[in-house]
Formats: sequence, structure tokens, C-alpha cells
Amino acid sequence: MLTNNNKPHFRKDPVSGTWVIVSAERGDRPSAWINEREEDGINKCPFCPGNEKQTPPEVYSLRRNESMPNSPGWSIRVVPNKFPALKNFGPIEYSDTNLFESFSGEGFHEVIIETPYHDKRLVDLEIENIRKIFQVYKERIVNLKKSKQVQYVLVFKNQGKSAGASIPHAHSQVIATPILPKQIEDEVSGMENYFEETKRCVLCDMMKEEFKNSSRLVTSNNDFCVLEPFASRFPFETWIVPLKHQPFFEDIKEDEIFNLSRIFTATLKKIDKILSKPAYNFVIHTSPLRLKRKATFHWHIELIPKVTHVAGFERGAGFFINPVLPEKAAAMLKED
Ligand SMILES: [Zn+2]
Ligand SMILES: [Zn+2]
Repeated sequence: MLTNNNKPHFRKDPVSGTWVIVSAERGDRPSAWINEREEDGINKCPFCPGNEKQTPPEVYSLRRNESMPNSPGWSIRVVPNKFPALKNFGPIEYSDTNLFESFSGEGFHEVIIETPYHDKRLVDLEIENIRKIFQVYKERIVNLKKSKQVQYVLVFKNQGKSAGASIPHAHSQVIATPILPKQIEDEVSGMENYFEETKRCVLCDMMKEEFKNSSRLVTSNNDFCVLEPFASRFPFETWIVPLKHQPFFEDIKEDEIFNLSRIFTATLKKIDKILSKPAYNFVIHTSPLRLKRKATFHWHIELIPKVTHVAGFERGAGFFINPVLPEKAAAMLKED
């Protein structure tokens, strides 16, 4: 056993081989959702301007020139998570007793506060603000990758309580881990196997098909397309994919960030309207840092509105039951 089980750590399930982060301290974190009353929302919110001292000191911010760090004047602010799923890197402590493998929970966990305005959702922001948010994602990935122990940097957002957000003020999160998340590992092996057989990228091929038969293609611009994947696991599962083969999100260029912000905002607005402001998650799937063949991965964003609940069959079987045809979802997203 590790010396302190209360600290975050990784445990491997000996049956499935899945790694789990056990982070007991996070159980103690306050829920702003439960405590919040309309009138004291802004006073008590740790992400509002004026309350900067309630978060750990910022690691990055976009702010007015004359303003001081950890004071108002920022437009986007990045702080370490006060209740991190993982603790900063130090010497990694391993424990391996034949069956039960574990190691200490080293990694980085940051929060990106997307706007100083308490009541604005991401979808309410101007394209220019969204552009800056994507720029900050890029900056954080590039920065966190510098740590030698980091294997993967995951950028994601939980919007709405039922999608897992514990604080209502608009924010996204970045977690840098010393191992590859299972879902990314599965995608990597899928993409590598396809490449092995065809010498081509599966996402590039998939887009070619979708452009030929547009029933799942929602929209596109010079750099990106939006599609409902053929085997969508969830209703209105939406992928935003760069048209040009590119393994790393963090290699995105200025003009591409602009086109991404435009298409992303338009898609989010559509989903918000059709599904009446749903909770949702999105995750940036970027290439792992170290791959057998570096170029096999094709980065993309997966946006999943929270419409259905994962039920027993899904949990037990790993199959997803999707009650909405992806073609139907695409048609609805295309309507004006
Ligand atoms: Zn707030
Ligand atoms: Zn590709």
C-alpha cells in the first residue's frame, strides 16, 4: 500500500486493466451549486473578480496591462484546482503487490476561468472571447508538456451541474497525467490499426466519406467540419474535426483558431437552442506525446450534450444505446 491513501493516487483494476484516480480529498470540496442563493452568488463565488484570494495563486492570465496578478482586471484566468484530482509532480511512489498495482497521484490540475462575468455561459461569449479561450488551452498544453513525466494533457469542460460542474461560473479544466487516459488509448490503437492496414488516417477517410454523403455532415469552413459521427454513442454527439491532418491541437495556427472559434460557437448556439440550454461536456482529443508513429493521430473535439443518463446496460456492457439517429441530429443542427 502507499504510505498515504488520503492523497490522490492511481489504482489499476486487475480485471480490466483500467486505471482509476482515487482522490478522497475531493469528496470534501464545497458545492457552490448547493449553497448558492441568487443574491450571494457573486459574493461567494471563488471565480468572480474581487474574490481572487479564494483560489490558489494564478499560473496564467490575460489581463489589462496595469492590473496586478490575483486582482481584478483579467479576462481569462488560470489557477491550480483548489481540490485537485492530482497533486503536482514530485518523486513518484509505486506500490505493486502481485495483484494490486498503484502509484501516487502525480500530475497537474488547472481551472481556466473563461470570463469575469458570473452569469455568462460559454455560449453567451463573443467569438473573440472564445478565440482567446482556445489560445489559452494551447498555451497551457504547451506549458504542461514541458514536464518530462507528463504523458497526456486533457482539456475538457463540464457545463451544468448534471454534466459534473461543481461551480456555476463558466470554466474549463486541464489535467496533465503521467499515464494515457483509457479512451485516448483506445482511439490511438484504433487509428494505428487502421493506418497499419491502409497507410491512411481513419479520420481523414471518414471526412472524405461524410463530404460525399452529407447526411451526417452539419457544416464546414476552410479549416474545420462539424459532423455527427456514424456510431454516435449519445444523442447529438458532435465532433469538430480539422480538415487538414494534424495530430496535435497545440500546433494550431492563428487563423485556424479563428475558424475553430467561429464554427464552435455556431455549433454550441445551435445545440443550445435545439436542446434548450442542455448541460454538456466537451473534450479536446489531441495526440499523446509519445506514439509509435507520431503522425497517426488526428486531433478533434468531442462535444456531448447531456440528454440521456448512462444506465445499467451501458455501465455493465460498455455498449451505448443511442435513441437519436445521428442523421436526424445532423438534419436538426442544419436547420435555421
Ligand atoms: Zn462567479
Ligand atoms: Zn487525418
